[in-house]
Amino acid sequence: FDQLDGEIWYNGEFVPWADAKLHVLTHGLHYASSVFEGERAYGGEIFKLTEHTERLHASGKILGFTVPYSVAEIDAACVELLKRQGFADAYVRPIAWRGSEMMGVSAQKNRINVAIAIWQWPSYFKPEERLKGIRLDIAEYLRPDPRTAPSKSKAAGLYMICTLSKHRAEDRGYADALMLDWRGQVAEATGANIFFVQDGRIHTPTPDCFLDGITRRTVIGLARQRGYEVIERVIMPDEMTGFTECFLTGTAAEVTPVSEIGPYRFTPGEISTNLVNDYMALVQPKRAAAE
Ligand code: PMP
Repeated sequence: FDQLDGEIWYNGEFVPWADAKLHVLTHGLHYASSVFEGERAYGGEIFKLTEHTERLHASGKILGFTVPYSVAEIDAACVELLKRQGFADAYVRPIAWRGSEMMGVSAQKNRINVAIAIWQWPSYFKPEERLKGIRLDIAEYLRPDPRTAPSKSKAAGLYMICTLSKHRAEDRGYADALMLDWRGQVAEATGANIFFVQDGRIHTPTPDCFLDGITRRTVIGLARQRGYEVIERVIMPDEMTGFTECFLTGTAAEVTPVSEIGPYRFTPGEISTNLVNDYMALVQPKRAAAE
Protein backbone atom coordinates (compact mmCIF):
# COMPACT_ATOMS: atom_id res chain seq x y z
CA PHE A 1 0.00 0.00 0.00
CA ASP A 2 3.01 2.32 -0.08
CA GLN A 3 1.82 3.77 -3.36
CA LEU A 4 -1.40 5.11 -1.83
CA ASP A 5 -1.82 8.78 -1.19
CA GLY A 6 -3.66 10.54 1.51
CA GLU A 7 -3.58 10.18 5.25
CA ILE A 8 -3.89 7.66 8.04
CA TRP A 9 -5.38 8.49 11.41
CA TYR A 10 -2.70 7.40 13.89
CA ASN A 11 -3.14 7.80 17.67
CA GLY A 12 -5.25 10.90 17.32
CA GLU A 13 -3.48 12.59 14.42
CA PHE A 14 -3.78 12.58 10.66
CA VAL A 15 -0.38 11.59 9.24
CA PRO A 16 0.74 11.20 5.61
CA TRP A 17 0.08 7.66 4.36
CA ALA A 18 3.79 6.79 3.97
CA ASP A 19 4.66 8.02 7.49
CA ALA A 20 2.24 5.75 9.38
CA LYS A 21 5.00 3.41 10.60
CA LEU A 22 5.68 1.36 13.71
CA HIS A 23 8.65 -0.29 15.37
CA VAL A 24 9.77 -3.82 14.41
CA LEU A 25 9.59 -4.82 18.08
CA THR A 26 5.85 -4.16 18.23
CA HIS A 27 4.08 -6.67 20.45
CA GLY A 28 1.13 -6.77 18.04
CA LEU A 29 3.49 -8.03 15.32
CA HIS A 30 5.36 -10.63 17.40
CA TYR A 31 2.44 -11.96 19.47
CA ALA A 32 -0.64 -10.93 17.45
CA SER A 33 -1.99 -8.74 20.26
CA SER A 34 -4.05 -6.80 17.78
CA VAL A 35 -7.73 -6.37 16.97
CA PHE A 36 -9.27 -4.72 13.94
CA GLU A 37 -12.44 -3.89 12.04
CA GLY A 38 -13.54 -3.90 8.43
CA GLU A 39 -16.20 -1.43 7.35
CA ARG A 40 -17.57 -0.16 4.08
CA ALA A 41 -18.61 3.34 3.14
CA TYR A 42 -21.34 3.72 0.53
CA GLY A 43 -22.13 7.13 -0.95
CA GLY A 44 -20.00 8.86 1.70
CA GLU A 45 -21.53 7.07 4.69
CA ILE A 46 -19.98 4.25 6.70
CA PHE A 47 -22.52 1.46 7.08
CA LYS A 48 -23.20 0.55 10.74
CA LEU A 49 -20.15 2.54 11.84
CA THR A 50 -20.97 2.59 15.56
CA GLU A 51 -21.67 -1.15 15.67
CA HIS A 52 -18.24 -1.77 14.16
CA THR A 53 -16.52 0.61 16.58
CA GLU A 54 -18.30 -1.04 19.51
CA ARG A 55 -17.07 -4.41 18.27
CA LEU A 56 -13.51 -3.03 18.09
CA HIS A 57 -13.81 -2.03 21.75
CA ALA A 58 -15.29 -5.43 22.66
CA SER A 59 -12.53 -7.26 20.75
CA GLY A 60 -9.88 -5.30 22.70
CA LYS A 61 -11.58 -6.15 26.01
CA ILE A 62 -11.47 -9.86 25.11
CA LEU A 63 -7.70 -9.51 24.55
CA GLY A 64 -7.43 -7.78 27.93
CA PHE A 65 -7.01 -4.16 26.88
CA THR A 66 -9.03 -0.98 26.60
CA VAL A 67 -8.97 0.85 23.30
CA PRO A 68 -7.78 4.29 24.46
CA TYR A 69 -10.26 6.31 22.38
CA SER A 70 -14.00 6.32 22.99
CA VAL A 71 -16.47 4.89 20.49
CA ALA A 72 -17.56 8.47 19.68
CA GLU A 73 -13.95 9.57 19.10
CA ILE A 74 -13.21 6.66 16.77
CA ASP A 75 -16.50 7.16 14.91
CA ALA A 76 -15.64 10.83 14.43
CA ALA A 77 -12.11 9.97 13.27
CA CYS A 78 -13.49 7.49 10.67
CA VAL A 79 -15.98 10.06 9.36
CA GLU A 80 -13.34 12.81 9.18
CA LEU A 81 -10.78 10.56 7.50
CA LEU A 82 -13.31 9.43 4.89
CA LYS A 83 -13.94 13.09 4.07
CA ARG A 84 -10.23 13.89 3.89
CA GLN A 85 -9.56 10.86 1.66
CA GLY A 86 -12.34 12.10 -0.61
CA PHE A 87 -13.93 8.72 -1.32
CA ALA A 88 -17.67 8.05 -1.52
CA ASP A 89 -17.34 4.25 -1.64
CA ALA A 90 -14.43 2.84 0.33
CA TYR A 91 -13.18 0.28 2.81
CA VAL A 92 -12.39 1.38 6.36
CA ARG A 93 -9.84 -0.45 8.51
CA PRO A 94 -9.46 0.58 12.17
CA ILE A 95 -6.86 -1.39 14.13
CA ALA A 96 -5.67 -1.39 17.76
CA TRP A 97 -2.50 -3.12 18.96
CA ARG A 98 -0.05 -3.41 21.81
CA GLY A 99 3.07 -1.33 21.17
CA SER A 100 6.82 -1.85 21.48
CA GLU A 101 7.64 -0.70 25.04
CA MET A 102 8.29 -4.21 26.40
CA MET A 103 9.29 -7.34 24.54
CA GLY A 104 8.12 -10.75 25.70
CA VAL A 105 4.86 -12.61 26.01
CA SER A 106 3.75 -10.33 28.83
CA ALA A 107 3.21 -6.73 27.79
CA GLN A 108 0.84 -5.40 30.43
CA LYS A 109 2.20 -1.86 30.25
CA ASN A 110 2.63 -1.51 26.52
CA ARG A 111 0.79 1.38 24.94
CA ILE A 112 -2.35 0.50 23.02
CA ASN A 113 -2.05 2.16 19.64
CA VAL A 114 -4.93 2.85 17.29
CA ALA A 115 -4.88 3.59 13.57
CA ILE A 116 -7.47 3.94 10.86
CA ALA A 117 -6.82 3.57 7.12
CA ILE A 118 -9.32 4.06 4.30
CA TRP A 119 -8.85 2.88 0.75
CA GLN A 120 -10.86 1.88 -2.28
CA TRP A 121 -11.68 -1.82 -2.37
CA PRO A 122 -14.45 -2.24 -4.95
CA SER A 123 -15.42 -5.89 -4.69
CA TYR A 124 -14.01 -8.73 -2.67
CA PHE A 125 -14.86 -11.28 -5.36
CA LYS A 126 -14.71 -10.55 -9.09
CA PRO A 127 -18.17 -9.33 -10.24
CA GLU A 128 -18.56 -11.99 -12.95
CA GLU A 129 -17.66 -14.67 -10.39
CA ARG A 130 -20.09 -13.29 -7.87
CA LEU A 131 -23.15 -13.53 -10.15
CA LYS A 132 -22.40 -17.12 -11.15
CA GLY A 133 -21.65 -18.03 -7.59
CA ILE A 134 -18.12 -18.49 -6.31
CA ARG A 135 -16.40 -21.83 -5.73
CA LEU A 136 -15.24 -22.79 -2.25
CA ASP A 137 -12.70 -25.38 -1.22
CA ILE A 138 -13.04 -27.12 2.14
CA ALA A 139 -10.29 -25.93 4.50
CA GLU A 140 -8.00 -28.30 6.38
CA TYR A 141 -7.85 -26.03 9.42
CA LEU A 142 -10.79 -26.05 11.81
CA ARG A 143 -12.26 -23.08 13.67
CA PRO A 144 -11.01 -23.63 17.21
CA ASP A 145 -12.98 -24.39 20.35
CA PRO A 146 -13.68 -21.09 22.20
CA ARG A 147 -11.64 -22.59 25.07
CA THR A 148 -8.63 -22.73 22.70
CA ALA A 149 -8.81 -19.21 21.25
CA PRO A 150 -10.83 -16.04 21.94
CA SER A 151 -13.11 -16.71 18.98
CA LYS A 152 -15.51 -13.81 19.64
CA SER A 153 -12.77 -11.22 19.19
CA LYS A 154 -11.95 -9.92 15.73
CA ALA A 155 -8.33 -10.55 16.64
CA ALA A 156 -5.46 -10.71 14.16
CA GLY A 157 -4.19 -14.04 15.57
CA LEU A 158 -7.37 -15.85 14.56
CA TYR A 159 -6.71 -14.92 10.94
CA MET A 160 -3.58 -17.08 10.71
CA ILE A 161 -5.71 -20.14 9.85
CA CYS A 162 -7.90 -18.01 7.58
CA THR A 163 -4.96 -16.78 5.48
CA LEU A 164 -3.51 -20.31 5.30
CA SER A 165 -6.89 -21.72 4.25
CA LYS A 166 -7.57 -18.99 1.70
CA HIS A 167 -4.10 -19.30 0.15
CA ARG A 168 -4.49 -23.08 -0.14
CA ALA A 169 -7.94 -22.62 -1.72
CA GLU A 170 -6.60 -20.06 -4.22
CA ASP A 171 -3.66 -22.32 -5.10
CA ARG A 172 -6.19 -25.07 -5.84
CA GLY A 173 -8.24 -22.76 -8.10
CA TYR A 174 -11.01 -21.77 -5.65
CA ALA A 175 -12.11 -18.29 -4.60
CA ASP A 176 -12.24 -19.08 -0.88
CA ALA A 177 -12.63 -21.92 1.61
CA LEU A 178 -15.35 -23.17 3.91
CA MET A 179 -14.06 -23.79 7.40
CA LEU A 180 -15.56 -26.45 9.63
CA ASP A 181 -15.25 -26.09 13.38
CA TRP A 182 -13.44 -28.31 15.87
CA ARG A 183 -16.55 -30.50 16.17
CA GLY A 184 -16.72 -30.97 12.39
CA GLN A 185 -19.71 -28.64 12.01
CA VAL A 186 -20.04 -26.13 9.17
CA ALA A 187 -18.72 -22.78 10.49
CA GLU A 188 -17.95 -19.98 7.99
CA ALA A 189 -15.70 -18.90 5.13
CA THR A 190 -12.28 -17.32 5.84
CA GLY A 191 -13.74 -13.81 6.10
CA ALA A 192 -17.50 -14.16 5.79
CA ASN A 193 -20.47 -16.01 7.29
CA ILE A 194 -22.41 -18.69 5.40
CA PHE A 195 -26.09 -19.39 4.66
CA PHE A 196 -27.93 -22.20 2.87
CA VAL A 197 -31.42 -22.61 1.39
CA GLN A 198 -33.62 -25.70 1.49
CA ASP A 199 -37.33 -25.81 0.62
CA GLY A 200 -37.67 -22.02 0.79
CA ARG A 201 -36.14 -21.84 4.27
CA ILE A 202 -32.77 -20.33 5.15
CA HIS A 203 -30.34 -22.22 7.38
CA THR A 204 -27.19 -20.81 8.94
CA PRO A 205 -24.79 -22.17 11.56
CA THR A 206 -25.13 -20.96 15.15
CA PRO A 207 -22.21 -18.55 15.69
CA ASP A 208 -20.77 -20.08 18.85
CA CYS A 209 -17.10 -20.22 17.78
CA PHE A 210 -16.88 -17.56 15.05
CA LEU A 211 -18.01 -13.98 14.49
CA ASP A 212 -21.73 -13.27 14.47
CA GLY A 213 -21.12 -10.85 11.61
CA ILE A 214 -22.82 -7.49 11.38
CA THR A 215 -23.73 -8.34 7.78
CA ARG A 216 -24.99 -11.75 8.94
CA ARG A 217 -27.39 -10.12 11.39
CA THR A 218 -28.42 -7.51 8.81
CA VAL A 219 -29.19 -10.18 6.20
CA ILE A 220 -31.17 -12.28 8.72
CA GLY A 221 -33.27 -9.15 9.34
CA LEU A 222 -33.77 -8.55 5.60
CA ALA A 223 -34.73 -12.20 5.06
CA ARG A 224 -37.30 -12.12 7.87
CA GLN A 225 -38.73 -8.86 6.47
CA ARG A 226 -39.37 -10.74 3.23
CA GLY A 227 -41.14 -13.44 5.22
CA TYR A 228 -38.41 -16.06 4.85
CA GLU A 229 -37.90 -18.37 7.78
CA VAL A 230 -34.30 -18.25 9.07
CA ILE A 231 -33.09 -21.16 11.17
CA GLU A 232 -29.85 -20.90 13.18
CA ARG A 233 -28.67 -24.37 14.07
CA VAL A 234 -25.91 -26.96 13.95
CA ILE A 235 -25.19 -27.86 10.30
CA MET A 236 -23.12 -30.94 9.45
CA PRO A 237 -21.17 -31.01 6.15
CA ASP A 238 -23.09 -33.98 4.68
CA GLU A 239 -26.32 -31.94 4.94
CA MET A 240 -24.97 -29.76 2.12
CA THR A 241 -26.27 -32.44 -0.32
CA GLY A 242 -29.82 -31.26 0.44
CA PHE A 243 -29.25 -27.50 0.12
CA THR A 244 -30.14 -25.82 -3.17
CA GLU A 245 -28.69 -22.34 -2.66
CA CYS A 246 -25.75 -21.02 -0.67
CA PHE A 247 -24.37 -17.54 -0.07
CA LEU A 248 -21.79 -15.72 2.04
CA THR A 249 -22.24 -12.50 3.99
CA GLY A 250 -19.63 -10.05 5.23
CA THR A 251 -18.70 -6.39 5.09
CA ALA A 252 -16.19 -6.98 2.31
CA ALA A 253 -18.04 -9.91 0.64
CA GLU A 254 -21.49 -8.22 1.01
CA VAL A 255 -23.91 -10.98 -0.12
CA THR A 256 -22.08 -13.36 -2.45
CA PRO A 257 -23.76 -16.48 -3.88
CA VAL A 258 -21.80 -19.76 -3.84
CA SER A 259 -22.08 -22.41 -6.57
CA GLU A 260 -19.75 -25.06 -5.25
CA ILE A 261 -18.23 -26.29 -1.97
CA GLY A 262 -15.92 -29.26 -2.51
CA PRO A 263 -18.24 -31.99 -3.89
CA TYR A 264 -21.48 -30.07 -3.20
CA ARG A 265 -23.29 -27.98 -5.86
CA PHE A 266 -25.67 -25.05 -5.49
CA THR A 267 -27.53 -22.84 -7.96
CA PRO A 268 -27.91 -19.19 -6.98
CA GLY A 269 -31.69 -18.74 -7.11
CA GLU A 270 -34.50 -16.47 -6.05
CA ILE A 271 -33.65 -16.18 -2.37
CA SER A 272 -29.95 -15.41 -2.96
CA THR A 273 -30.79 -12.90 -5.69
CA ASN A 274 -33.42 -11.16 -3.55
CA LEU A 275 -31.02 -10.87 -0.63
CA VAL A 276 -28.15 -9.61 -2.83
CA ASN A 277 -30.53 -6.91 -4.09
CA ASP A 278 -32.08 -6.11 -0.70
CA TYR A 279 -28.64 -5.74 0.86
CA MET A 280 -27.42 -3.43 -1.92
CA ALA A 281 -30.63 -1.35 -1.65
CA LEU A 282 -30.09 -1.04 2.11
CA VAL A 283 -26.43 -0.03 1.99
CA GLN A 284 -26.69 2.12 -1.11
CA PRO A 285 -30.08 3.83 -0.67
CA LYS A 286 -29.04 6.76 -2.88
CA ARG A 287 -27.95 4.56 -5.76
CA ALA A 288 -31.01 2.28 -5.47
CA ALA A 289 -33.33 5.31 -5.53
CA ALA A 290 -31.59 6.70 -8.64
CA GLU A 291 -32.02 3.47 -10.62
N1 PMP B 1 -16.18 -14.08 9.79
C1 PMP B 1 -14.92 -13.64 9.62
C2 PMP B 1 -13.78 -14.55 9.91
C3 PMP B 1 -14.70 -12.35 9.16
O1 PMP B 1 -13.45 -11.90 8.99
C4 PMP B 1 -15.81 -11.51 8.87
C5 PMP B 1 -15.57 -10.12 8.36
N2 PMP B 1 -15.40 -9.22 9.45
C6 PMP B 1 -17.10 -12.01 9.06
C7 PMP B 1 -17.24 -13.32 9.52
C8 PMP B 1 -18.31 -11.18 8.76
O2 PMP B 1 -18.41 -10.12 9.66
P1 PMP B 1 -19.09 -8.73 9.25
O3 PMP B 1 -20.38 -9.07 8.58
O4 PMP B 1 -19.30 -8.07 10.57
O5 PMP B 1 -18.16 -8.04 8.35
